[in-house]
Amino acid sequence: MVFDSHLDTPSELLRGRDLFSSRQDQQVDLSKMKKGGVHAAFFALYTPAETRADAATRHALEMAGAVSSFVRQAADSVAWAFTPQDVRKNLSEGRISILLGMENGSPIQESMELLEAFYALGVRYLTLTHNGDNALADSAAEGKRWGGLSPFGREVVARMNQLGMMVDLSHASDQTFWDCIDLSRSPIVATHSCCRALCGHRRNLTDDMLKALAEKDGYVGINFYPYFLVDDPQRRRPGVCEIVDHIDHAVSICGDQHVGIGTDFDGIEVTPEGMENIGCLPLVFDEMRHRGYTEKQISLIGGENLLSVFDRIVKCSE
Ligand SMILES: [Zn+2]
Repeated sequence: MVFDSHLDTPSELLRGRDLFSSRQDQQVDLSKMKKGGVHAAFFALYTPAETRADAATRHALEMAGAVSSFVRQAADSVAWAFTPQDVRKNLSEGRISILLGMENGSPIQESMELLEAFYALGVRYLTLTHNGDNALADSAAEGKRWGGLSPFGREVVARMNQLGMMVDLSHASDQTFWDCIDLSRSPIVATHSCCRALCGHRRNLTDDMLKALAEKDGYVGINFYPYFLVDDPQRRRPGVCEIVDHIDHAVSICGDQHVGIGTDFDGIEVTPEGMENIGCLPLVFDEMRHRGYTEKQISLIGGENLLSVFDRIVKCSE
C-alpha cells in the first residue's frame, strides 16, 4: 500500500493546477499519482506564516473548496476519505483516497469553533505551525513566542484528541514537540520530517524525538526535500539512496511500524535526483527491496503504518 502523509497540492490547485494534465514540471497530477502506485494521500491546506486572521481562514477554506472541486471532477479515479474505513473501502473499489490535512494552525485563529468547523469539513490532521510561531505554538524556524505550546495550543491538542484528529509536529519547535509528547493522550505524528542524525536541519527530528514518537505509538513520514536529506545539497545533490538512508535510520530507532513517507511534493522547489515527481515513488521501494526490506515491510512503510496510526488516533478518541 502507498499512502503519502503530505502533499502540498491544494496550494497548486488554488493557483490553477490542472491535475488532469500531465505536464512534466508538475510534481503531482492524477496520472503521476497512478504511475507512482499511490492509493491514498493527505492534501495539506497550507497557509503561509505571514497570512493571518480572517485572511488565513479564507485561504484555507478556498483551498478546501479547490480540493473538493477536484474530487468531484475526478470521481472516476479518486474519492474522499474521512476515516480509516473510507481509505480501505476506496482501496477495494480501486479509487485513490484524498484526505485533508491542514498545515499551520493560523486559519483557526483563536477559536475552538473554527477548529471544529475544519474538522467538520474533513480536516483530519493539523500541523500546529509552519515557519513562524503562531497562536498555538512555537515553530522550529522561530521558537521564541511561548516556549513551546501556548495555553490555547494546549486546549487545541486536548480537543484534537477528543475529535480523533492527528496532532502533526512537523515544523514544530523542539519544545513544542516535547510539550505535545507530554500532553497528548493519543499518538502523535510528524507527517513530513527527516532525521537530524543524518542532516542537521532544525526541522528534522533527533533520535530522542524519534524514540519518543515510537514509544507513543506515533508515526514519522520521511520528507523528500533535499535540504532535509543532506547538509549541503548544492555540493552533494541527494537522490533515492539518501531518501532510503533516512528511512533506514528512522526504522533503526523506531522499528518498522512507525515510519512512512511524507514526500512534501508540491511544497518543495527542488527535488532529489531521479525523484522529480510522485510518479517516481516506486524507485524508493525498489531501493528498499535492494537493501533487504521484505514486501511486508515495504507495504508497512509505504502506507499501512500511516493508516494504522490514523486508526489508533480515532480509537483513542472514542
Ligand atoms: Zn511543510
